[in-house]
Amino acid sequence: MPISKILIANRGEIAVRIIQTCRQLNIKTVAVFADADRFAKHVQMADEAYHLGSTDLADSYLNIEKIIKVAKDSGVDAVHPGYGFLSERASFAEALDKAGITFIGAPAEALRLMGSKSAAKQTMLQADVPCVPGYQDDNQSVETLQKAADEIGFPVLIKAVAGGGGKGMKIVEKAEQFISQLESAKREAMNAFGDDQVILEKYITKPKHIEVQICADKHGNVIHLFERDCSTQRRYQKVIEEAPAAGLSDATRTDMLNAAIKATQAIDYAGAGTIEFIMDGDDSFYFMEMNTRLQVEHRVSELITGVDLVEWQIRVAEGEKLPLKQTKIHDKGHAIQVRLYAEDPQNNYLPSTGLLERVKLMQTKHSLVDSGVRTSDSVTIHYDPMIAKLVVWAKNRQKCIREMQNILNQSAIFGVKTNMAFLSQILASKAFAKHNIYTNSLDNNELDLSQPLPAAVTAIFAHHLLHNDHPQQAWHHANGWRLQGEQPLAIQFEYQGEKYTHLVSWEAGEYLIDGKDHYLPQAGDLCHIHRNQVQVIHNNLRYELILPDYEAKASASNANAILAPMPGKIIEVKVAEGDAVEQGETLVVMEAMKMELELKAERDAVIKSVYFKQADQVKADAVLVELE
Ligand code: ADP
Ligand code: ADP
Ligand code: MG
Repeated sequence: MPISKILIANRGEIAVRIIQTCRQLNIKTVAVFADADRFAKHVQMADEAYHLGSTDLADSYLNIEKIIKVAKDSGVDAVHPGYGFLSERASFAEALDKAGITFIGAPAEALRLMGSKSAAKQTMLQADVPCVPGYQDDNQSVETLQKAADEIGFPVLIKAVAGGGGKGMKIVEKAEQFISQLESAKREAMNAFGDDQVILEKYITKPKHIEVQICADKHGNVIHLFERDCSTQRRYQKVIEEAPAAGLSDATRTDMLNAAIKATQAIDYAGAGTIEFIMDGDDSFYFMEMNTRLQVEHRVSELITGVDLVEWQIRVAEGEKLPLKQTKIHDKGHAIQVRLYAEDPQNNYLPSTGLLERVKLMQTKHSLVDSGVRTSDSVTIHYDPMIAKLVVWAKNRQKCIREMQNILNQSAIFGVKTNMAFLSQILASKAFAKHNIYTNSLDNNELDLSQPLPAAVTAIFAHHLLHNDHPQQAWHHANGWRLQGEQPLAIQFEYQGEKYTHLVSWEAGEYLIDGKDHYLPQAGDLCHIHRNQVQVIHNNLRYELILPDYEAKASASNANAILAPMPGKIIEVKVAEGDAVEQGETLVVMEAMKMELELKAERDAVIKSVYFKQADQVKADAVLVELE
């Protein structure tokens, strides 16, 4: 059955990415959205878009009934679930089937089987696929689990049977801590997944996460698209992924690819999927889990093979055979993906919400930018704080790392805290160059990621202030003429919570910082400035400076609407329908978390609608004012 119209039951960058392939295949697209996404990029890009409900997930992206109703009303042939949300929900696949709509994903039975870490491991052990030594039986009595843990030997990892996304895992170092850790793991699992069953695994102390992309059709064909190394993780969540895995011997690689095919053949599978392995120091590898969906990191496999996995998913859902045989699939070069998150690596990776005042993401001939947001969108508390995935291909790993550094250096995000400086540090580290990063390296602080401030950064910033007419070629005319014979330039800023004051002058053809450090800007030095936020790039590292005397802008508006950045009370509405306002004008004053927030217009506009009045209580992300 050919598919000519698809509903995308997701949001953000993955919805955008699916729409891109649909456009190429001439397939019509239907987007769905929650309140907070009314003006989102995926909604704008789709041919049609339907409102699901409030920002509450149960009322929107996780509401099977509502999504199926939209699917029927809009007359789509199929639904693509993306990743996360309903992508691995067997009941969703079944409900669609009942409604006569094709699910572009794995068969319901496979979703159910692989959704349980215990059933998955039991199945794989039966099929002779090596699994992490552990306990995965139904008997969940404390005595049985304690005995199993003692037999496995400590450290032991407790995992929720229903777990995912790195949640619900506990490392137990010693036997005497087992019971208390078990109780806490069960509590967490019950809260997060409504199921407190666990499995136990030997905790591998220096593990690499290597996974194999597979794809199967409904005619019994199974192929792989090689492996990915996803060992750069924080809190069991991937931050940098690459393909192929560096430093893997040919023999191990072949064994692993074969094991992945065998694992897929062990179940009745169709569509794209991933077999995740964990690899020990001696190159032995074990099945960890199967992800029965497209993965966040699928792009790196696409870039080394030239395959469009979303297209293949659609073909398979249509009942076609896989477009290529295994012998026709080759890998070429190297690809790396970084996940750009709105989060603070200095503060436990706490998500950072707010207005994306400026989003500048560099794209090159061999790179991709997958993003669901634009300048003036917001990062909210409701969804994953990922801003974008940057993906790049090059002939070999070394070139690929360099290309990724260039792309990161040329990109900048302002308005929220991001992990860009952190990503740059990892890419510049010796450990990454030598692929000596294990899944717990970041959590164990094994990489030295402290970043003292070199005097050069002050000079680069000063230089940019003096020559901001040509920021890209700044070093070409580093003559500092404006400083000659004048007072030294006083530079003040904050870096990592500390205040700095420096005097910069120009002497004998170089900048002189505080009368002692000499510096001449170099190729590769860059400076991105937005309001009081300065990002200086030097030696492939990023330094984020904050300038003083900045009036904090407590606004979370988006280009066409002013949203409440958090729940609170309206103190004053300063405009009415039809008013013309100027950029920066305060439209609404609200009180939230004991603070008064002035919500301002992001651009000159005419007020289209005002939805609340003084003293009203509003929820986070409520649309307060709409602009023409
Ligand atoms: P993978 O195993 O594919 O790398 P992860 O386990 O790191 O993926 O992350 C997948 C999870 O990320 C999803 O289950 C979901 O919770 C979350 N996620 C990330 N981006 C999105 C998005 N745009 N929409 C929905 N969920 C997302
Ligand atoms: P999830 O479903 O949350 O993705 P996984 O079983 O895939 O759970 O594990 C997530 C991550 O936890 C892995 O990528 C790895 O970093 C770590 N991990 C999982 N199992 C082990 C283990 N037995 N020993 C050490 N680390 C592990
Ligand atoms: Mg996993």
